[in-house]
Amino acid sequence: MSSHVLHRNSLVQPPRAVAGDGIYIIDANGKRYLDASGGAAVSCLGHSDPDVRAAIIEQVGKLAYAHSGFFSSDPMEELADDLIAHAPAGMEKVYFVSGGSEAVEAALKMARQYFLELGEPDRKFVIARRQSYHGNTLGALSVGGNMWRRRQFEPLLIDASHVSPCYAYRDQQANETAEQYGLRVANELEEAILTLGTGRVAAFVAEPVVGATSGAVAAVPGYFKRIREICDRYGVLLILDEVMCGMGRTGTLHAIEQEGISGDLQTIAKGLGAGYQPIGAVLVSGKIDRAIASGSGFFQHGHTYQGHATACAAALATQRAIRDRDLLANVNIQGENLQNALTAQFANHPYIGDIRGRGLFRGVEFVADRATKEPFDPARKINAKIKKTAFANGLMCYPMGGTIDGQLGDHVLFAPPYIVSDEQIGDIVSLFAKTVDQVFAAEG
Ligand code: PLP
Repeated sequence: MSSHVLHRNSLVQPPRAVAGDGIYIIDANGKRYLDASGGAAVSCLGHSDPDVRAAIIEQVGKLAYAHSGFFSSDPMEELADDLIAHAPAGMEKVYFVSGGSEAVEAALKMARQYFLELGEPDRKFVIARRQSYHGNTLGALSVGGNMWRRRQFEPLLIDASHVSPCYAYRDQQANETAEQYGLRVANELEEAILTLGTGRVAAFVAEPVVGATSGAVAAVPGYFKRIREICDRYGVLLILDEVMCGMGRTGTLHAIEQEGISGDLQTIAKGLGAGYQPIGAVLVSGKIDRAIASGSGFFQHGHTYQGHATACAAALATQRAIRDRDLLANVNIQGENLQNALTAQFANHPYIGDIRGRGLFRGVEFVADRATKEPFDPARKINAKIKKTAFANGLMCYPMGGTIDGQLGDHVLFAPPYIVSDEQIGDIVSLFAKTVDQVFAAEG
């Protein structure tokens, strides 16, 4: 069947999704797909939540949308109140947008404007980490460290520096403890600030648990504390990108809670509206809000759909559902189940080197050799084969990777909805095991 849609891959016509049923998506042929990745860590309530659906219908019945240049709205105000009531320390305001990349763009521009308001125009550099993903718009792509996504757009990108990620499985040396390793890589930030010049760096951007580029890689203990110290010492803003790992995904509402610090700006998106409406946001600390409010009084940014009433109503219903149904308890229980079941299944698998993550955010990394951790040759396209075979088996998981410019190898990310059951965790692992067997049998 021909299509006028310019799909992500022009060579492949994807099946048409026609319905959602709990953690399943159903296509036009009636085939059911177990959504073990929540799309890309989005669908935290599954695909047929009655409360979110009712909230959307009710809001559309009252007011679907009013431009935020003219009006506020009840859903926007109530959602902001709700988010700030449960936000990391220091966060006082919420800037709404329609997705993750927009949130990162807004955070970068807010960081820049903050320093202009303070009379520090030389602070224009941003430092981020290799093996990170912050979105596909040009500013977000500039700070992202995923070479495959960046390469052909390099001439259009703004200048950003990249330091090492905190990735113990690959980088921790035999002669250092996890804490020593964390300090070593965190200190790269200080070196980068000194190289660029103190007083010239506006912000450091990092995902508290790295998602798309690395497959649920959490930092070692102490890393983020040291990052916070360095940022404070040099007056650099810390932007935490929780677009993927936030809103309960790792077992706490915000992933950074587990590190004992907070950022100056924090982006959130996917789990915010659970995919029922497109929505993202930036949590803004009081010091940044006050600098803008007492300076120009106007954040020079804006999008047509920011603070969209229906999207805010959906997100408010999502956040209430997570809290009222105590879903974070299930994230922790089923996250452990998933980790244990994957470990039991693959503990001795010759091509699986690491199984990791937090809450319902888990990653499996493939290696050609477990002892040396050597990745597969990217030309073998292991991650693409896993994705295709899993999908044929009715399993949605999120494989990425391939060694590009010295980056790590193939991995698969699991991010099932927070409503997943024991039995469904078992189904995920057995469908994945079947997939892995099929792929490596075909590889010979
Ligand atoms: N930041 C992180 C950490 C992400 O994982 C993503 C998307 O995967 C984005 C930003 C971009 O979000 P969006 O695709 O909604 O623009």
